[in-house]
Amino acid sequence: MGARPASAAPPAEPSARAGRRRVGILAVQGDVEAHARALGRAGAEAVRVLREKDLDGLDALVLPGGESTTIAKGLARLGLYEPLRAFARAGHPMLGTCAGAILLARRVENHPVETLGLLDATAVRNAYGTQVDSFAAAADSGAAAGLEGLRCVFIRAPRLRDLGPDVEVLATVDGEPVLVREGKLLAATFHPELGEDPRVHELLLALA
Ligand code: GLN
Repeated sequence: MGARPASAAPPAEPSARAGRRRVGILAVQGDVEAHARALGRAGAEAVRVLREKDLDGLDALVLPGGESTTIAKGLARLGLYEPLRAFARAGHPMLGTCAGAILLARRVENHPVETLGLLDATAVRNAYGTQVDSFAAAADSGAAAGLEGLRCVFIRAPRLRDLGPDVEVLATVDGEPVLVREGKLLAATFHPELGEDPRVHELLLALA
């Protein structure tokens, strides 16, 4: 049911949608290049964002992992807090990974940083402690359709707690939410840009 007859013309694409999606990567600090490669694997064009003007015409934005304190200082220095909030309010999808997920959260524990305050969640920084500060794990069974077996690389990762009622958990590892969605916001506590699996970036593109 719902399939188009083979003879039907494909639906007209609005002109802004035609061609490759252009996705910004906040390029203050962090693993910008790995995200650019991951977006390329998912079929998008990656654009570095360092100024408000760089957001013009973008379909979506990635906030990469790195050091949230350093990225937050850069956002303040470059005057990017309000432009990024406005970009999200305008309905553009955003993917925050690790430090980027922290920057999306409304609340931060364990050395708070100023965030964009968009995602109804508390990010607990460096929540896995120093003993196991980096590890890889497969997502638990029960991940959202299409994300089965997602391999997650964690590097000094945060945990997400106190998720608001509109926050949907797309994947967990050991029962902890590691990939969540609230409207057009995606937050991953791991690094989907490492490795070859394009599914999280494809999810961002699907929201655009
Ligand atoms: N521990 C970092 C922070 O707080 C995040 C690490 C990462 O992005 N890989 O901010």
